[in-house]
Amino acid sequence: MKVLAVASEIYPLVKTGGLADVVGALPAALAAEGVETRTLVPGYPAVLAALDASEAILALDLFGRPGQLRAARAGALELFVIDAPDLYGRGGNIYSGPDGWDWPDNAFRFAALGQVAARIGAGEIAGFVPDVVHAHDWQAALAPAYLHYGGGRRPGTVVTIHNLAFQGQFPPSLVGPLGFPPAAYAMDGLEYYGSLGFLKAGLRFADRITTVSPTYAREIAAPGGGMGFDGLLRSRRADLSGILNGLDTEVWNPATDRRLAATYDATRLPLRHLNKQEVQRRLGLRQNSFALLFGVVTRLTWQKGMDLLAQMLDALPDGSQLALLGAGEPALEQAFAAAAAARPGEIGVHLGYDETLAHLMQGGCDALLVPSRFEPCGLTQLCALRYGAIPVVARVGGLADTVIDANPMALAANVATGLQFAPNDPGALRYAVARAAELFRERSAWSAMQRNAMAASVGWQAPAARYAELYRSVVRRD
Ligand code: ADP
Repeated sequence: MKVLAVASEIYPLVKTGGLADVVGALPAALAAEGVETRTLVPGYPAVLAALDASEAILALDLFGRPGQLRAARAGALELFVIDAPDLYGRGGNIYSGPDGWDWPDNAFRFAALGQVAARIGAGEIAGFVPDVVHAHDWQAALAPAYLHYGGGRRPGTVVTIHNLAFQGQFPPSLVGPLGFPPAAYAMDGLEYYGSLGFLKAGLRFADRITTVSPTYAREIAAPGGGMGFDGLLRSRRADLSGILNGLDTEVWNPATDRRLAATYDATRLPLRHLNKQEVQRRLGLRQNSFALLFGVVTRLTWQKGMDLLAQMLDALPDGSQLALLGAGEPALEQAFAAAAAARPGEIGVHLGYDETLAHLMQGGCDALLVPSRFEPCGLTQLCALRYGAIPVVARVGGLADTVIDANPMALAANVATGLQFAPNDPGALRYAVARAAELFRERSAWSAMQRNAMAASVGWQAPAARYAELYRSVVRRD
């Protein structure tokens, strides 16, 4: 089985979010399922610089801009790279310019991705004729539409939604310049609320639609959760499913993690206190191994519920501490910096993106707060499970699917791995942290929960098996 994955980012070459992690991790996990994956990505400078070997295989004319398709390898990743300096040869963020606004030619930059994917899917590259084209997020989502209107060979097609908040909407005047017939601009085609919708096109034309957790799949097909797409998603409910993301369990392994002050496993939990000390030291918190240390590792945004957290800081349980690592909206950064200044030793804040500190916090915090308003899957709570930092999560999306709440039955059966709360408001969050504090006082129950958490299956094996099954279901036999 050959699969062409199509995405605008791939770890470790270029990453702005969880999408890159998924796209980077799936090929190796799928190989174990007998699936050979090649991934088509734009040739940003960071991608071209990371290639171990590459060869030009096709000259491209991308809406009047010249380019080359290169077959390439980077580490264990087998890639197709669109080398088109006019579209991708620029510094800074891959989606936006130095002024913070989206690049003005994003429609062309990512239509090119979909169009080249469709050409490979149609069989133009003799050495790799895919059975399935798997497009990730709006940037790749025109691939099934180009295949549909191209009228040639049709591989099976899958579109995966990593975050429905990003939809790729552009002026309808681009329908022609992007190579579609005028009739394609219709409700049953590319039209989306008066715009040309990239994600809309993918959701309309893909054989199957997946998203990154079963609960998020239900939420986005419900009125109010679909961000404009719930009607379309309901009409395609039979083709919509949720497959959880996995974690790279080698990168995230507390037994070998060099970023920790002390490595440990489920049989040596007391060693975690050395990491806790280091977190307390680095964030200016009082050295106290008995304090319940809550951690937060996140983008500071509305989606992540950080305004809710900011509102309930005064209600943190007595004797507990908060360590926050995050970057994002300036108003939230200021609110947390002010809280840390007002309560030194109790609230510690590190503003910025810091991979090492993220690992250390998972290895040292007692609990990890994730009060997201919506969460397609979420990776931080998976890291927390693996590191025995008890996740305290809003009952939404992938958070609901990955954490077993410490209700009395779950505690009695010794299967709890964390705490869930709903609805997501400051009151429920306050109640959840109070419940956590109560459980934390019962040391043996807390340690049992940590061991359950660390034993939870969070790797890529199970998700990869589900993707392989899905691919098999869309392979065309004609
Ligand atoms: P999203 O992709 O929506 O930001 P996820 O939970 O799916 O959320 O993935 C976020 C990943 O990025 C996690 O691995 C998390 O540890 C990491 N992360 C988020 N913010 C920071 C930060 N400020 N410093 C270091 N790592 C971070």
